[in-house]
Amino acid sequence: MRFVIALGGNALLHRHEAPEAATQVARLSLAAPALARIAAAHQVVFVHGNGPQVGLLARESAEDETLTSPYPLSALGAETQGLIGSLLIQALHNAGHPGQAVTVITHTVVDADDAAMGTPTKFIGAVYDCRHARRLADDNGWDIAADGEGWRRVVPSPLPRRIVELSAAATLLAAGSTVVMGGGGGIPVIDSDGYRPVEAVIDKDHTAALLARLLHADALVILTDVPGVIADYGTPAATVIAATTPALLRTLPFAAGSMGPKVDAACGFVEATGKRAAIGSLDHVQDVLDGTVGTQITASLSPRHPAVFRAGPSSAPPTR
Ligand code: ADP
Ligand code: MG
Repeated sequence: MRFVIALGGNALLHRHEAPEAATQVARLSLAAPALARIAAAHQVVFVHGNGPQVGLLARESAEDETLTSPYPLSALGAETQGLIGSLLIQALHNAGHPGQAVTVITHTVVDADDAAMGTPTKFIGAVYDCRHARRLADDNGWDIAADGEGWRRVVPSPLPRRIVELSAAATLLAAGSTVVMGGGGGIPVIDSDGYRPVEAVIDKDHTAALLARLLHADALVILTDVPGVIADYGTPAATVIAATTPALLRTLPFAAGSMGPKVDAACGFVEATGKRAAIGSLDHVQDVLDGTVGTQITASLSPRHPAVFRAGPSSAPPTR
């Protein structure tokens, strides 16, 4: 079988944890044995997030007084693909993955006239007080917006349209390699008289869904730090949706920037292909893949995937 597996930020760092290199190595070594077993048994593409890592590099670059301007996001995204790809490959090998795992530095083509390009909504990097954020915005041409008590940089988050390295990835997969690609959603470029990088961040879940479709994956698996898609999230009635269809899921509201893009990406894959998508916990990757836990999304409900809502202690919203 061929799977595209999206790894949430929790594969490398837990929320609010400092982005220490050693912490990321340690976290990956916990997830790697299960991932290596799956990669050994199937054709697998891993797509990882890069939020904390790109935030760290952006801050370092912004604070470097020897630079006249900070590195563009496209350059920082490329750096994080190399870093995280390398860490993941080392972890897979150290966990006994018998084959080759290869990172493909990936460029993702977006539409220059994507409606999102004019409306920066995605928060990136550190939280600043208002004055500090204003100064950084003036100095660097950033857009900023309030995020809770503080202020942060915001960038557009356009949809991925095309993967530049797609055919190379398909060749690697067919030859038996495990492929790490599309990290951080891919380096966003517009295709206009050559590839030109844009200051934007593509949601990695949307890129994973596009890759799953274009590479004819048997399933799209999105792993994160909650047991699945939770209905009535944040309320005492919170329940994990065990099995559902895109038609059902699309009637429910989900948070933009976290569960929203996962649900949208998973539904889009199922609608386009008739195949299965699953959203679940990294800690239970094998069971999520097998269809026994997490939220299983199929074109129609079957006896194997009945329309049940499973409540349980693990479905309570995490306290942060
Ligand atoms: P990742 O790094 O895996 O992409 P995100 O923070 O983007 O992580 O998305 C996962 C988070 O989405 C969870 O930790 C949870 O706090 C949040 N979330 C928001 N709404 C829901 C929901 N309806 N069901 C489950 N989780 C939700
Ligand atoms: Mg996310």
